[in-house]
Amino acid sequence: MLGERLRLPAAVLAAVLVAELAVLVLWPRDGVIEPAPVSAPSYFSASDLQQARDFRRPQLLLVTLTLVIETGVLIAIVARPPRRLRDARRPVLAAAAGGASIAVALDVATLPVRAVLRERAIDVGLVTQSWSGWASDVALSGAIGAAIAAVGAAGVIALMRRFPRRWWVPAAGVIVAYGVITIYLAPIVLDPRFNTFTDAPPEIRAEVLALAEKAGVDVGEVQVMDASRRTTAANAYVAGLGSTKRVVLYDTLLEDFEPDEVRSVIAHELAHERYHDLRNGLLYLAIVAPFGMFAAAQLARRLAPEPDDDGRPRADALPAVALSVVLVAAVIGVISNQLSRQVEARADTFALTLTDEPASFIRFKQRLAVQNVSDPEPPAVATFLWGTHPPVLDRIGAGVAYERGAR
Ligand SMILES: [Zn+2]
Repeated sequence: MLGERLRLPAAVLAAVLVAELAVLVLWPRDGVIEPAPVSAPSYFSASDLQQARDFRRPQLLLVTLTLVIETGVLIAIVARPPRRLRDARRPVLAAAAGGASIAVALDVATLPVRAVLRERAIDVGLVTQSWSGWASDVALSGAIGAAIAAVGAAGVIALMRRFPRRWWVPAAGVIVAYGVITIYLAPIVLDPRFNTFTDAPPEIRAEVLALAEKAGVDVGEVQVMDASRRTTAANAYVAGLGSTKRVVLYDTLLEDFEPDEVRSVIAHELAHERYHDLRNGLLYLAIVAPFGMFAAAQLARRLAPEPDDDGRPRADALPAVALSVVLVAAVIGVISNQLSRQVEARADTFALTLTDEPASFIRFKQRLAVQNVSDPEPPAVATFLWGTHPPVLDRIGAGVAYERGAR
């Protein structure tokens, strides 16, 4: 047995190693074109590049600031857990209230910075929604977040009291189940609270079906989302599992881009279906969650106040658990982003091969970056920490490599 003092570092190291191992196991080895080296000024005007940098780099710092604020608030609560949590006669109920309060506190503490992020997005013309519309979005997503936090907090304190030493085992199971359920339900329960979804127009649907047939992919529904009520940015994504599976296209995409460009996006999204990327993401979660929760449990034990006389944690362990989970999840998130970037690169390669229109692909990435005021060449550290997709310039480079015959 490891000594008590080494348990925490050993648990964190194990979580990191397993996460990295899971990245290797699920790593797409075939079907990823190595990007050709390309330079940003060949694809973007100096003023577009300048604007993207002037906008995106401070945004990155502000997003970092929200994470620092959240961690700071959690540390402050851990340092002085509310008495009400400690003295509660019904710890599980108290934890529910505590979880909701912590979620609201984090939301409120980061609100000023989120308002600045939005103000800066307004300045570059990305925002179409009014401040009052934004406020009601913030209230709704805050309420949903608080409700989920209440259920999660009650669940974790109930498990900790029932299984004081092994609670992380069922907790990991709950996290995976939560992942499956949210991916399944999000497109039918959650997303419609924020946007209106309509069936794609017949010509788009025909396009998708033709591409899907060519790719041998069983595509679910194809829907258009009224993204334009909030933003001028364009995008597309896949959502759902099984019977809720669908490809979602922003209305901004269909309005502002040419059919051959839309085709390259659809082909990219079909790649995610073809390779079952959402399902693989859940598989990754299932591998990593037990080790991550074990590490979080060790950290929480160090940070939490003394348990009650029976050795069962009280509700005042909740802030320590929340902080531990946030910290461990942040580290694992950086590792899983490596996998995400490679999966996205494979989807790009698949799109190039399926459509065989590299010029359209490249033009789309260019125009999308300009429309979304994306930095084509973000700082490497930002890509490493938070990049779920390869930098735009690398994606253009893959198109160039394909054009030159790479397969
Ligand atoms: Zn993608």
